[in-house]
Amino acid sequence: MRPKHTTRLSITCASVLTVVVLLLIWLKPAYGQDEKKIVNVDESVNPGTALAVAEEESIASDQASQTDDSVAVPTPSEKAVRFYRSGLWWWSVQEIWSWFIPALILFTGLSGRLGRFTERIGKKQVIVTILFVAIYFLIDFLLTLPVNYFAGYARAHAYGLSNQTLGRWLKGAAVNSGTMMVLYIIGFAVLRILIQRSPRRWWAYSSAVVAAIIFFYLMIHPVWVAPLLNRYGPLQDKTLEADILALADRAGIEGGRVFEVDMSRDTKALNASVRGIGKTKRIVFWDTLTSRLDHDEVLVVMAHEMGHYVLHHMYRTWISISLVYGLGLFLTDRMGRRIIQKYQSRLGFQNLHDVGAVPLFMLISGILFFAMAPLLNADSRYRERQADQFALELTHNNHAMAQSFVALQSTNLAVPYAHWFDKLLRRTHPSLGERIDFANTYRPWEEGKPGRYDKLFAPVNNR
Ligand SMILES: [Zn+2]
Repeated sequence: MRPKHTTRLSITCASVLTVVVLLLIWLKPAYGQDEKKIVNVDESVNPGTALAVAEEESIASDQASQTDDSVAVPTPSEKAVRFYRSGLWWWSVQEIWSWFIPALILFTGLSGRLGRFTERIGKKQVIVTILFVAIYFLIDFLLTLPVNYFAGYARAHAYGLSNQTLGRWLKGAAVNSGTMMVLYIIGFAVLRILIQRSPRRWWAYSSAVVAAIIFFYLMIHPVWVAPLLNRYGPLQDKTLEADILALADRAGIEGGRVFEVDMSRDTKALNASVRGIGKTKRIVFWDTLTSRLDHDEVLVVMAHEMGHYVLHHMYRTWISISLVYGLGLFLTDRMGRRIIQKYQSRLGFQNLHDVGAVPLFMLISGILFFAMAPLLNADSRYRERQADQFALELTHNNHAMAQSFVALQSTNLAVPYAHWFDKLLRRTHPSLGERIDFANTYRPWEEGKPGRYDKLFAPVNNR
């Protein structure tokens, strides 16, 4: 009877996701029929984890029809539409796969057996946690690798977007997974002790611990993790650097916070980002930007990042991710024990603090992040709009901003409008079409009205 319940649950989950995938495929957002139906793709080059989403950005140059100062939203190429559809398809596969792995490890009893095995050879609980989480991450890494290879590496190459070698791609995947493994080891080591010490309130204390770990990760990422994969340094183009630093100065950002990264080794995509938190916070300039953008377009892209920086968006990212994990821990407390009790014989462990329960946390937090995606994405899109507004008020260069989005669309093979369903679940940025429209129209200074962020800027002649 119990196994049947589990099977039925798995079948229901799989069916729902399959229907979602089929819907996405058959919705066929065809251009020419309804121009407002497609999406802005800003796939990151290396698919990241929930933590790694942080402040990934997308920016970029090309042609645009032009009347007066405003820029038209270009029609996407047929290739871009195909790239978009395959992106949705692969995203669905990755999503299903990411739930399937912990569910499989859990409900086949593998987790219970692995738990007993690590208990036997590890003896000390800390060692047991290290062994279990390390083996879990290894299994997860190996099972996810083929899907990520097609979704990330092969697909980007097939569309001519990437020049990354397979070796560098593998190294990136290993570094990301390894970093997560270390963080999860620390997290679970503390969590298991807290569950035993405080069976009723452990989730509240653990939420604080998890928030601290996420903060730690955001802080060390640009100084310890990112340099393992790429070279970060001052900008190569000194004239451009001087102008970016002058703009940063006007935005109240102290010197030495802008870094260039050698992304051209791996990708043709255009991007920039804000990374780090507190003392490690910095604006990262992708060296691909100058390949397709002119001087003014680069400046407005950097002004957008300055918006994220000055408006402390990294703190907001940290708080929202921490809140979702906190909610995940609470739900695990409420549901976890019941699930364990119900499926005990199948799972092969009895308690929430047993090391075998680790995949249960993974499964619940994974499902929760999916369920919360509409909220998290809407919040992210709001912040992106704020950063665009900030950049326009700082530079007053509407044309350059709109042109940079046109360039982004063509270089990154993006489509200008998102289907509502895709927007709901995946879009962290407003669609490029909306951003071009905003860049064309937002000019309060022309009517003598104050901007929302004017007070944050140093006067132009005082720079
Ligand atoms: Zn942004």
